Amino acid sequence: MQTIQTINELKQIIALNNAKTIGFVPTMGYLHEGHQALLNKARKDNDIVVASIFVNPAQFGPNEDLDRYPRDIERDTQLATDAGVDVLFIPSANEMYPFESDINIIVGDLSTKLCGESRPGHFDGVLKVITKLFHLIQPTKAYFGQKDAQQLAIIETFVDAYNFPVQIVRVPTVREPDGLAKSSRNVFLSETERGEAVHLYQALQLATVTWETTDDLTAAIAKGREHIESNTSGKIDYLEALSYPDLKPVTGETKEVLFATAVFFEKARLIDNILT
Ligand code: AMP
Repeated sequence: MQTIQTINELKQIIALNNAKTIGFVPTMGYLHEGHQALLNKARKDNDIVVASIFVNPAQFGPNEDLDRYPRDIERDTQLATDAGVDVLFIPSANEMYPFESDINIIVGDLSTKLCGESRPGHFDGVLKVITKLFHLIQPTKAYFGQKDAQQLAIIETFVDAYNFPVQIVRVPTVREPDGLAKSSRNVFLSETERGEAVHLYQALQLATVTWETTDDLTAAIAKGREHIESNTSGKIDYLEALSYPDLKPVTGETKEVLFATAVFFEKARLIDNILT
């Protein structure tokens, strides 16, 4: 595996590529089995696997956890090697954004709900870095987790609307044995909170089943919220159901429904969802 930090090195490697397929897995590091699932799929589908580790300042708000986001490059490098990654790109913020650009990508309606509502500018920052990485790496396929369902919806829509020559591959959420979605931020949970965190997924399951059996979305959402409120010390940011991937109110025409939640714990904001 080649580990590189600069855009120039990356360009040289990509320029040498001889029509081989490239699978790309963008991450913010502190890798876990969720990331591994993306890497394994990329390894299986492509001649070359490129992964990136970049804690992207553009997608963090002023009061968010950019400075304390967990990092362990040594462990990540080992994990990427074991997963068969060919090129690991770990740029600095200065390498990615050497000057302030006053041209930005602004996500519209898709970013006004769910995580976008409480994290203004977050998805603009995601598309900023993804655009640069896609142009540099020119992947055949890029792999994203369903765990970040709104991010996935926005990236799929963006790629489609602007004809990026890349296929976006959805990878199902990888969970702990008790159901908690794997996340780099789980390390911020206290022992008590870690016990409580399983109730996010349980609340989503409860809401989904209630909706499927009663067809009453309001009651389903209320049940889910109530489950989190009575079983955790966390504060609900949202628990909602929307059509997927256009994130509109659910109607009789809706084919795929996203039940999604975000909950603030003392030092971590956790998200989870079920697509049904
Ligand atoms: P992150 O490092 O959190 O930015 O995540 C990098 C990629 O891994 C994103 O596409 C995430 O959706 C995906 N990912 C994170 N956690 C999981 C998980 N538990 N299961 C599947 N994919 C995940």
